[in-house]
Amino acid sequence: MPIQTTEERQAIREAVRSLCKDFPDVYWRAIDKEEKYPAEFVAALTKSGYLAALIPEEYGGAGLGITDASIILEEINHSGGNSGACHAQMYTMGTLLRHGSEEQKRRLLPAIARGELRLQTFAITEPNAGSETTRIETRAVRQGDRYIVNGQKIFISRVKQSDLMLLLARTTPYDDLKDKTRGLSAFIVDMRNLKGKLEIQPLDLMVNHHTTTMFFDDVEIPADSLLGEEGMGFRYIIDGWNAERILISGEAIGDGHWFVERASKYACDRVVFGRPIGANQGIQFPIAQAYARIEAADLMRFHAAAKFDRKEKCGAEANMAKLLSSEAAWEAANVCLNTFGGYGFARDYDVERKFRETRLFTTAPVSNNLVLAFIGQNVLGMPKSY
Ligand SMILES: Cc1cc2nc3c(=O)[nH]c(=O)nc-3n(C[C@H](O)[C@H](O)[C@H](O)COP(=O)(O)OP(=O)(O)OC[C@H]3O[C@@H](n4cnc5c(N)ncnc54)[C@H](O)[C@@H]3O)c2cc1C
Repeated sequence: MPIQTTEERQAIREAVRSLCKDFPDVYWRAIDKEEKYPAEFVAALTKSGYLAALIPEEYGGAGLGITDASIILEEINHSGGNSGACHAQMYTMGTLLRHGSEEQKRRLLPAIARGELRLQTFAITEPNAGSETTRIETRAVRQGDRYIVNGQKIFISRVKQSDLMLLLARTTPYDDLKDKTRGLSAFIVDMRNLKGKLEIQPLDLMVNHHTTTMFFDDVEIPADSLLGEEGMGFRYIIDGWNAERILISGEAIGDGHWFVERASKYACDRVVFGRPIGANQGIQFPIAQAYARIEAADLMRFHAAAKFDRKEKCGAEANMAKLLSSEAAWEAANVCLNTFGGYGFARDYDVERKFRETRLFTTAPVSNNLVLAFIGQNVLGMPKSY
C-alpha cells in the first residue's frame, strides 16, 4: 500500500467534498426524519470508488491506507452527512483481508468493490455479554459442510441494507475453555438465501442507524464462511480494533469541524442586544476552545493513522485518538447547540440531528470507559477491571 503524498490526500478530500455537495443538508434531514437509508449517497460513494478505499487494487479496490480512509469518512461527516450509513465495510475490511482465504477474497472483494455485494453488517454485540465479548453465547455448531447457528444479537446495524455479515459466534462452550479468548469464530456470511429462521426486529433508537435485534433459529451457513481458523475469531476481531478506532476518530473530527463552522457563522450573523452574539465571550470562547480541542485530537488521529499505515504498534495512539476526538466532537456539539439557542432544537438547522449522531461516538462501537480501561491497564500497567 503506497503512502499518499500531501497533495494526493488533498485531492481525496476535494473529490469527496465535491461528491458530498450533491447530498446537501435537506437530503440528510429528510433521510433522518423519515428514518430512511441514504441509498443514493451510498451508491454514489461506491461508484466513485471511495467506499472501496481499503480494498487492495489487485481485488478491484483503491488500495489506500487507513489515513486516507479516515479522511474520506471525515469529509462525509464534515459535509453534514453521516458515514455511519456505510462505514462498516471499512471497519471490517482488515479482518477479511488478514484472515480470509485467497478463495474468499477473490470471490468477495471484487464484487464488494463494484458495489454488487454490500458488506455493511458486523454482528458481535449480545444482550447477555455487552462489552464483555468473550461471553457471547450465540452458538455455531459444525455439521458436515455447514454450521448451524442459534442465538441472539442486539444493536446490529444495517442488516437489511447488507448482503454480507461479519459474524462472531461461539464454536466451543465457554466452560470447556482454559483460555477464554479462544472458542469464538468469525464468519463472513452471505445473508441472501440463508436456510433456517433469521428474524430481524428493528430497534427504536435516537439515531437513524437501522439497528436491529437478530434471532438465529437453526440458521445454516456453509462451512466455507469461516474466516481463518476455528476458535480464533476473537483475536481476529481484536486485530481490527485499531483501524476501527482511527476511522471513528476521523468521523468525529469531521463532525467537530461541522459544529464549529456552523457555530462560528451563526455567532457572526445572529444579532441580539444590538451586536452579533459572537462578540460575547460567553459565546466566542467556548467555540474557540472546542476548535482547539478538535485540532489537538486531529493530531493524535494522524499520529495513530501514520503508525498504522507504517505497520507499527499503535494500540495506545488509536485508543487515544478515539477518546479525544469523540469527546472533542461532543463538546463542539454542545457548544454549537448553545450558540444556536432555541433554533438549535429546530430540525431545519440540522444541529439537533448532528448532535444526536455525534453522541454515539462516545458509546459505540466501543464505550470510552473501555478505551480508558485499555489505556489505564495496557499502556499504564494498572490493575484490570475485567
Ligand atoms: C446505534 C448503535 C449501533 C450499534 N451497532 C452495532 C453493530 O453494528 N454491531 C455490533 O456488534 N454492535 C453494535 N452496537 C453495540 C455497541 O457496540 C455497544 O452498545 C457498546 O459496545 C457497549 O455495549 P453495551 O451497550 O452492552 O454496554 P455494557 O457493556 O452493558 O456497558 C454499560 C456501561 O458500563 C460500562 N462498563 C462496563 N464494564 C466496565 C468496566 N469494566 N469498567 C468501566 N466501565 C464499564 C460501559 O463502558 C458502559 O458505559 C451498536 C450500538 C448502538 C447504540
